[in-house]
Formats: sequence, structure tokens, C-alpha cells
Amino acid sequence: SAKKQGLGNWAFFNKKMTEKAIAHLRIEANLYNAIRNDNLSLFFQPKIELATGKMKGAEALIRWHQGDKVISPGEFIPVAEESGLIVTLGKWVINKTCETLRKWCDEFNQVPSIAINIAAKHFIDPKFVEQLKSCVSSFHLDPSLIEIEITESSFIHDIQLAIAVIEQLRKSGFKVSIDDFGTGYSSLSYLKVLPINTLKIDRAFVEGLPENDAIASTIVMLGQQMDLEIVAEGIDEAKQLKWLQAHGCALGQGYLFSRPLPQEEFENQYLEPEQTVLEIE
Ligand code: C2E
Ligand code: MG
Ligand code: MG
Ligand code: MG
Repeated sequence: SAKKQGLGNWAFFNKKMTEKAIAHLRIEANLYNAIRNDNLSLFFQPKIELATGKMKGAEALIRWHQGDKVISPGEFIPVAEESGLIVTLGKWVINKTCETLRKWCDEFNQVPSIAINIAAKHFIDPKFVEQLKSCVSSFHLDPSLIEIEITESSFIHDIQLAIAVIEQLRKSGFKVSIDDFGTGYSSLSYLKVLPINTLKIDRAFVEGLPENDAIASTIVMLGQQMDLEIVAEGIDEAKQLKWLQAHGCALGQGYLFSRPLPQEEFENQYLEPEQTVLEIE
């Protein structure tokens, strides 16, 4: 009967919701333990100066180690964002980044800046800037070594708040980038009022180069006119690189240069050890 069918549908819908909720809770609990047990790591992808091929910075990208398996952030960041765990995770990333930069400053020449991804919920947390500053100063680091990547979702709800946070960050010496630029729903007019350093062209607009270049060329021109640094994401073919070089995009990241690397591999490939002074008798 219709009544029975309705009930059945309700039961089915409810079961699916319950399964999803349980799956989320399971990831959440496991992630909580992963943070506590340090089963996380940061991989580093070099940011490359396109004209010279030189490394000019690194982006820290989180990985979750489960035995031999490495889990990508796409599988757990969305769950962490739905719970409060994203803030705990973000704090872990900040601390790990500072620890890494301290090590690099002690052991290597010409230490590159590290870009970290901060979720909207964390970015608008009233304690975010103070905690970041206190972590950086406890490791005796120059804040200009850290670049904060946010997405358009960080300022879509409250532009005044976002401006205030970005101003605080800049005043304290940090750099600020808009990540995945062009994929959100923000208005271009926001760009004028946000005191940012960098726009990162989303991989989706690099993928189609050189044939589909309308959005990439708009962003590159915007950057030139507004005096913003432009970084192209996800460069994985030579023809994309050629287009970006010819159109004056200064920086880029992508598999064509390097995948994100475990810290030790990044150090071996991109950092130059400080000359040790030998004592001669
Ligand atoms: P994102 O910040 O836009 O990072 C770029 C993503 O593109 C990374 O994926 C990187 O591995 C991938 N990628 C780079 N070059 C290429 C390429 O040439 N081809 C292709 N196909 N992909 C490329 P990943 O590491 O899986 O991270 C995915 C997203 O997860 C990141 O996007 C970022 O939004 C988020 N995420 C990563 N780490 C963190 C973190 O520590 N905190 C937060 N809140 N989010 C993070
Ligand atoms: Mg990013
Ligand atoms: Mg991105
Ligand atoms: Mg992205």
C-alpha cells in the first residue's frame, strides 16, 4: 500500500543517512587519533619560477598514514571541515610547518617560504591569528616565511571580517594567497578590497591550456593590473607551461616539475646544506 511504501522509503532514507553519519563519525574518531598519535605528515610541492626553473617556495600538503597506505586530504578534509576537527588539524599543520622551518633555517641556505592551506572555519576562528603568531615566535621564525592560503569560501559570508583578518596577518608579516581562484562564487570587486599578495589559478583553468585560455588570461591580466603575484596550479604538460611563460605568469606548481614530496625528499632535491666549517688543527 501507499502507506507501507511511504514508510519503507522513510526507513530507507533514514538508513542511508545513518550509514553516512556513522562513516563520518568513524573517520572523525580515527582522524582525532591520527592527530594525537602523529600519524600525519606534510608533503611539500615546490613552487617554480617559470622563466628559470628555480624553486621559489613550497606548499605544504597534508597526508594521513595508515600503515603502508597514504590517504589524500580529499578523503578526510571535507569530514574534518564538517566537524570542529579542522581547527585542531589546522593547528597541527601550523605547528609542523614552524617546526620544519626551524629545522630548515638551522640546516640549509636560502630557506624557501612555506604556503599552508587554512580552511574557512579556522580562518574566521577568533583565536587563529594570535595562535599562529605565538607559534611562529616560539620557533623564532620570520613570519614572511609563511604564506596563508585561503579559498573564496573564507570571505564569501563576511567580507568585513575577512578583510580584518587578512590585515592582521599582513601587519604581522605573513603573506596571504587566494587558492583555487576562479572556482568560487566571489565577486571580482572583492579583490580590490582584500589586501592579499597572491592569486593561485585553479588547476581547472590550467588544464585546458593553450586551447581554452579565456579564464587563465583574465586572471594573469588581473594580476598584472592589481600588482598581485600569480601562481598557476597543476601544470602537468609542457604546452601549458609554454602558454604561461608567454603570457607572463611568473610562478607555477605541478607534476611537470614535481609531485608533492615527503619532507626528506624535498630537502634532498631542493635545499642546499649550510657549509659546515671544518676545524683544522
Ligand atoms: P590545493 O591546496 O589546491 O592543492 C593542490 C592539489 O593539487 C594537491 O592535492 C596537489 O597534490 C595537487 N596537484 C599539484 N600539482 C598537480 C598536477 O600537476 N596535476 C594534478 N592532477 N594534481 C596536482 P592534494 O595534496 O591531494 O590536496 C588536495 C586539497 O586538499 C588541497 O588543494 C587543499 O585544498 C586541501 N589540503 C591539503 N592539505 C591541507 C591542509 O593541511 N589543510 C587544509 N585545510 N586543507 C588541505
Ligand atoms: Mg593550496
Ligand atoms: Mg589550489
Ligand atoms: Mg585545489
